[in-house]
Amino acid sequence: MAEDLPGILVVLSGPMGVGKTTVANRLLEIGGYERSVSVTTRAPREGEVDGEDYHFISVEEFEKLRDANELIEHAQVVGNWYGTPKQPLREALKARKAYLLVIDVAGGEQVRGKGYNSELVFLAPPSKEELVARLEGRGTESQKQQTMRLQRADMEMEKASEIYNHIVVNKDLDTCVEEVHELVLAARRKLKEKQDAGGSLVAPDQQH
Ligand code: 5GP
Repeated sequence: MAEDLPGILVVLSGPMGVGKTTVANRLLEIGGYERSVSVTTRAPREGEVDGEDYHFISVEEFEKLRDANELIEHAQVVGNWYGTPKQPLREALKARKAYLLVIDVAGGEQVRGKGYNSELVFLAPPSKEELVARLEGRGTESQKQQTMRLQRADMEMEKASEIYNHIVVNKDLDTCVEEVHELVLAARRKLKEKQDAGGSLVAPDQQH
């Protein structure tokens, strides 16, 4: 029988091209995880599905959600807005899921500051060269965008050690997924112990 563990927010960040989406998809296959679908003002890439990859919305719609306090966190990434909607998170935590947020470091920092029960994992590439090769291989970004994304990756990696609970190097996919899953399980077991000892598991945000 599966362990009955409390819900938790799992933040997965890392530079573009490091494999966050692949790792997130593998975690979803394990079971017990649910993935947050962010809102974004970015245009869909080829093959992306509205409501699955993102909710693609206008800047006006984004501002409305943000101003109504309906986003847990939000950030501007390379010229576009991104944010995590609140309502599905509440439901997922109630259903005792590990709720996956694949977001940038600025978003991770906001989540951390809000006091949710969370595990923040930063995925790092084995080397800078590897990251460049993966980005080029993807071929979805212009040269200028690639340069911007690489500059951002440097900045994110510098900040990550201050914000994230763990930095996991994605050298081998299976090992990386296993490692992240174990970290999440350990965090949830710790929460359960706290819960059993009578501690509060309710996020500050949900107490009102
Ligand atoms: P992309 O445009 O390549 O899908 O995503 C660009 C960056 O935005 C990635 O680092 C991704 O993790 C981040 N991102 C996606 N959704 C969100 C979100 O809801 N909030 C924040 N803060 N970042 C996000």
